[in-house]
Amino acid sequence: MHRRHLIKAFVAQGACLICAGAARATSAHWGYAGQVGPKHWAELDGKNFVCSGGTQQSPIDITKTVKADIPRIAIGWHKAIGKMVNNGHTIQINMPEGSKLTRGDRIYELIQFHFHAPSEHHVAGKSFPMEAHFVHKDTTSENLGVLGVFLTPGATNASFADLAAVFPPQPGAEMAVEVDPRGLLPASLSYWTYEGSLTTPPCTENVEWMLAKQPVEVDATHIDRFASLYPQNARPIRSANRRFILGFD
Ligand SMILES: [Zn+2]
Repeated sequence: MHRRHLIKAFVAQGACLICAGAARATSAHWGYAGQVGPKHWAELDGKNFVCSGGTQQSPIDITKTVKADIPRIAIGWHKAIGKMVNNGHTIQINMPEGSKLTRGDRIYELIQFHFHAPSEHHVAGKSFPMEAHFVHKDTTSENLGVLGVFLTPGATNASFADLAAVFPPQPGAEMAVEVDPRGLLPASLSYWTYEGSLTTPPCTENVEWMLAKQPVEVDATHIDRFASLYPQNARPIRSANRRFILGFD
């Protein structure tokens, strides 16, 4: 018994050392607390400069919105075999080609979606227990289009339940999953939009944010399941500065 514990401890330590070495060789390790937390992201790597120096950072508090005739979102996502990864920062589902989001004359390809707890964006000063980010690449530019969906405790959501049942517990673990991301959409696709950034290093300011106004209910035990792996993976609110937040009713 003791011997087995020792071996486990040794393996864990060995894995960590390799991890730290790899992190130093590529990009600096970052996290959500302490010396690698959001306040220090810019210091960890020169590539992260805009995390501190940028003026169009995300997330923000959705307040003082401007009514505007913004284009409706059309979802062309499909059920697919994705790859669910515990990447050390969140649980992420990488999607194969073929799922698209259309907004006016822009077409975006769904690359991956992942989760934050609590929500990164706030609405009128309040956070939600979770937020899902559906990350799309604009098919004609380097811009990203990210659709954010707030998750709140309530009725069981079958799509989220299926994922929560098999969240890979260990960082680095991955598995194939059949997933229909449409199951995580609210009934209404009414949304707010603003120009922002990635909410993780390198905080690149190339994101068209679309935030669904209507939250999606998921089983509280499934929120707890995510929070048991990632109890706090939300970047603090950034200043909106002079940006407009647009929406329609
Ligand atoms: Zn995110």
